Parts: sequence; structure tokens; C-alpha cells
Amino acid sequence: MTSAAADPYLPGRPDGDLDIDRYELELDYRVATNRLEGRAQVYATAVRSTLRVSLELQHRLRVSQVFVDGYRPDRWTHRGDLLVLKLKHEVAPGTSLVVDVRYSGQPGPVRGPWGAVGWEELSDGVIVAGQPDGAPSWFPCHDSPADKATYRFTVTAEAGYEVVTNGHLVSRSARAGRIRWQYEQPEPMAAYLATLQVGRYLRIATGPREEAVVPPRLRAAAAYDLGRQTEMIALFENLFGPYPFAAYTVVVTDDDLEIPLEAQGLSVFGANHMDGRRGSERLVAHELAHQWFGNSLTVGLWRDIWLHEGFACYAEWLWSEASGGRSAAEHARAAHTRLAGLPQDLVIGDPGPDSMFDDRLYKRGALTLDALRVSLGDEAFFEVLRTWTSRYRHGTVSTEEFVVCAELVSGRPVAAVLHPWLYERRLPVWAAR
Ligand SMILES: [Zn+2]
Repeated sequence: MTSAAADPYLPGRPDGDLDIDRYELELDYRVATNRLEGRAQVYATAVRSTLRVSLELQHRLRVSQVFVDGYRPDRWTHRGDLLVLKLKHEVAPGTSLVVDVRYSGQPGPVRGPWGAVGWEELSDGVIVAGQPDGAPSWFPCHDSPADKATYRFTVTAEAGYEVVTNGHLVSRSARAGRIRWQYEQPEPMAAYLATLQVGRYLRIATGPREEAVVPPRLRAAAAYDLGRQTEMIALFENLFGPYPFAAYTVVVTDDDLEIPLEAQGLSVFGANHMDGRRGSERLVAHELAHQWFGNSLTVGLWRDIWLHEGFACYAEWLWSEASGGRSAAEHARAAHTRLAGLPQDLVIGDPGPDSMFDDRLYKRGALTLDALRVSLGDEAFFEVLRTWTSRYRHGTVSTEEFVVCAELVSGRPVAAVLHPWLYERRLPVWAAR
């Protein structure tokens, strides 16, 4: 949807000859053999005059045919993880194109600086966790968080499996022992947030807008552990503004997962996160908060990831306080004490690709918000957050825009408060209260 400049955290990526407007993916998948037959219709707009356009698709998936606006391009190559098409004629900026790619193979994770990311087989099913660079593990795309698009997913798989993607289920039909599922994701979404979940799950309602998709053996534990999400949504709507999507789904895999994962409109937890005692409720709140911070408002460049993780971590503290646990101030004090004892060599406003998911970034990001809250007072602080989520709803954001928004809403020079937290290595003093 928006033009994407090259992200220095993603070297070697196409820097956006195309803005993608919409993906229509038709996937035929066999769980037993991990065999995927795919067709991707990519609706795009040329950003500049160009004779070549490129999409990312991991090399282990084999491209068999490519069309552009119904014709075969002069030439195309699929080398490394890059599909490059040479067009018949140079196109002018603003020209609409439909790139149609047929591909197949046995997908697996993309291996890069962040380890194995994207498509992964479970013991009996599939999980896709695309953050930050895993979307090309299953469809040809422009894997930049700044390039948001709408999606339609049509997925056919064996009967007996539940298939979940982003968006709402449009139809489900049976054909020769296989089920065809169609989902529509109408709000624009970054490619890394696109997901496919396949497993022997059952669906349970956990609230008016919430459902869980869980292995039958974890039904009771999940219903209890996710039982306070309705209250969480109410709290977060009050503090952050309206929930940005139509519904919220939590998928629980039958396998254990190291960490839960966010996707647009849904989150994925491992069996280990559902203990029937709300032992991971902190994470339930964290993943839910990403629907506002990360999914609706998505960074354009990964250096600004504190706008996702700092906010989601702060939301954990807010939920803790509201639900009778430790107060946000107590969490902040404890986090500050812990960070003070760790190396202070991280700039959370530009942490570098290796430290994007460093726990210190999460905690210091939350402390940054706490410092802003102390400086502005509760009323102005939450007004800033609500204006932030409404002004940039379903959009692309940067730290600079957050600072400007906070200054405009509060009428206070907040840059001076935020700068040392975001751009200096040394840990600022915590404002006790
Ligand atoms: Zn997170």
C-alpha cells in the first residue's frame, strides 16, 4: 500500500519496484507429504519506471509458470530467493500490474540472520511464523513491513484438519475427502504477519469476538487460560482505542513452542503455554496488544521495532495492574533494576538486526513509555496512545511520527524525555513515584 524504501536490516531485498495492493493465494496442501501446489496472484502498482520487477520466494519452491497481466514476461529467473521478471515494455510509475505465479514444492523455513523463520512442519500440521523475514517461505511477496496489502487465502487440505489463516472465513466446502477453506483479510497487512495454521484442532468460542483453535486435549486448559481476553480487550480498548480488527483468534499448537507468535488478527501459542493455571497470562496480554501495536500500526523499518515490543511489554504491565497483580510502576521499577545490572550497549531506537528481539529492548521500550507517562500524567499519556492508534490505524509508522504525535497531543516537548531512552546507550534514571 505504501512505497517501501530499502530496509538496512534486510540487505539484498528488492527495494520496492512494486507496491503490492493485494495477494490472492490459492494453495493446495498435503499434510502427509508437506507438498504445496501454489498459485499467487499479486496485484501491484509500479513505484518507478521499470523494465524489471521482483518478488521474494524461497528457492526450495519451484516456479513453473509466470504471467504478467496475462502474458508471459520476456524472461524470468528464480535465483537465490528472488524471482525477477523482465517485462515486455517499461512501465511508468503508477501502472497497475497483476503478477501470476504458479509454484510448488515442499516448503520449509527461511534460514537467515534470525534463524529458521516462516513455514514449519509440526508433528501433525503446519505453523507459519513469518517475523521478520519468513513470508517468502510460502508465497511470492514483497516481504517489507511497510508494504501492506489485503489478502485472500484459498487453501485446500485433507479433511480432519482445521485450517486457519488471517481474516474471516468466507467459505468451507468438501470435495473428494479434502476441504477447501477460503479466508478474506480486508484490512491491509504486512507480509510477515500473514500466516497459515493447520492441525487437528477444534474451535471454541472464548468471548464475543474471540475464538480459540486448540488440540482437543487442551480444550479445558485453553478455555481457562484464555478466559480473561474479553476483559483484556475491554481494558486495552479503554486505554489504546478500539480493537482494530473484526475478531481475534488464538491457535494453540499440539507441539510446544519456545515463544508465542503474533499474526494479524490472531496469535499462536504452544501447548506449553496452556497450563490450565494462567501461568502464561502475561504473554496472552502481550500478544493481544500486538493487534494494536505491530499489526494495525506497523513499523516501516525494523529499526523502530520498539514501537511493537516496548508497547506490548507495557501492555503486560497495564494488564497486571488492572487484574490485581503487580502495578505497572512496580514492574517498571523491577525492570529498571534488572537492566541496570546488564550491559548498557543497546540503542533501542536503532538496535541493529542482531538485537531486534533482545529482551532488553522490550523492557527498556516499556520503560520509555513509563517515563513518558510520568512526564505527561495519565490523562495526556493515554490520550497520546489513543490518538496514535487512531491516526495511524492500519498504517505504517516510525519513531519520529510517534514523537510528533505525542508532542501535538500533549503540547509538551516530549522529544527531550524520550531521546535518552531511545537513542543513548546509558540507562536513564527511573522516575520513581
Ligand atoms: Zn512481542
